[in-house]
Amino acid sequence: MIFLELGVEMAAESAFPVTSDSPNALAAVEREIARACADARRDRSSVTLIAVSKTFAAEDIQPVIAAGQRVFGENRVQEAKAKWPPLMQEHPGLALHLIGPLQSNKAKEAVALFDAIHSVDRASLCEALAREIDRQGRSPQLFVQVNTGEEPQKAGIAPGEADAFVKSCRDVYGLTIAGLMCIPPADEAPAPHFALTAKIAARNGLALLSMGMSADFATAIQFGATHVRVGSAIFGTR
Ligand SMILES: *Cc1c(COP(=O)(O)O)cnc(C)c1O
Repeated sequence: MIFLELGVEMAAESAFPVTSDSPNALAAVEREIARACADARRDRSSVTLIAVSKTFAAEDIQPVIAAGQRVFGENRVQEAKAKWPPLMQEHPGLALHLIGPLQSNKAKEAVALFDAIHSVDRASLCEALAREIDRQGRSPQLFVQVNTGEEPQKAGIAPGEADAFVKSCRDVYGLTIAGLMCIPPADEAPAPHFALTAKIAARNGLALLSMGMSADFATAIQFGATHVRVGSAIFGTR
């Protein structure tokens, strides 16, 4: 709020329009993460902030990199491929996570570009990923997406099929699954969905939980999120 007011004031007084408040927004998100971690008696280092830069251009992303953010998320392979290689060359040490659905025929590009893939949800994709991981000798961290709300339009494995799916990822395809990812239904309280995802992860021996977006990342941290995916709270509305 303070930053928003300051931004308006600066815009009114400056000869130049305020083009981006993202470094301030990033700092505010960081403070909120630190507070949520303290409330949950968790170490700040147990939560990775993924800054979701989908739809934003490289020039919008640069100030966030300059402010110290190193982990970014994109939801489309083609968009990420066009945007990120130059940024990664310019700033060594960045990590890029694919948070959107992945078609099997893009597994090759995804394994080459991303450090983590959050949307593993079907056998054909497991097969394609296993092949590319083997061929390229690159192993992105893998998250199985769980469709906790069982929404027909949403990707992800149904909660009732998650245990068997994780097992087949391991036993049939030889994949190392690092954790689970969920996107709660937009019109429901997220907490039960976070709790369910954490429960499925625990009984399958999975340490990582990708859950929580701009509106609910503090709640997700309370329920054990190790990766929060925050877009609009950092970059502004899309
Ligand atoms: C866009 C997106 C986010 C970020 O959403 P915000 O509400 O802007 O923080 C997180 N996760 C996924 C899977 C997304 O597609």
